[in-house]
Amino acid sequence: MEIPKTVNMFCKWCGKHTPHTVETVKKHQKRELSLGQRRFERKMKGYGSFPKPMPQGKKPTQRQDLRYRCTVCGKLTTRKKTYRVKKFEIKEKQ
Ligand SMILES: [Zn+2]
Repeated sequence: MEIPKTVNMFCKWCGKHTPHTVETVKKHQKRELSLGQRRFERKMKGYGSFPKPMPQGKKPTQRQDLRYRCTVCGKLTTRKKTYRVKKFEIKEKQ
């Protein structure tokens, strides 16, 4: 999937439509314990039943995390719609 590098969309800080540049968010560094492991330890500390195993199975592709930066005020915004695609490119308009 190809997405244009600049999109004209509404900026809530400027209060009007301005050109926005599209950015992707890079992955954070991993912590020592994974989220599931931390959750498991928290669960084992307190009362309650033994935790059930998480459902297995993986989604084929990850969702793209897109951010739109306003070229006028420089603020970042997101859109609700995300894409689950294998091939992803940000292309400049000709
Ligand atoms: Zn703006």
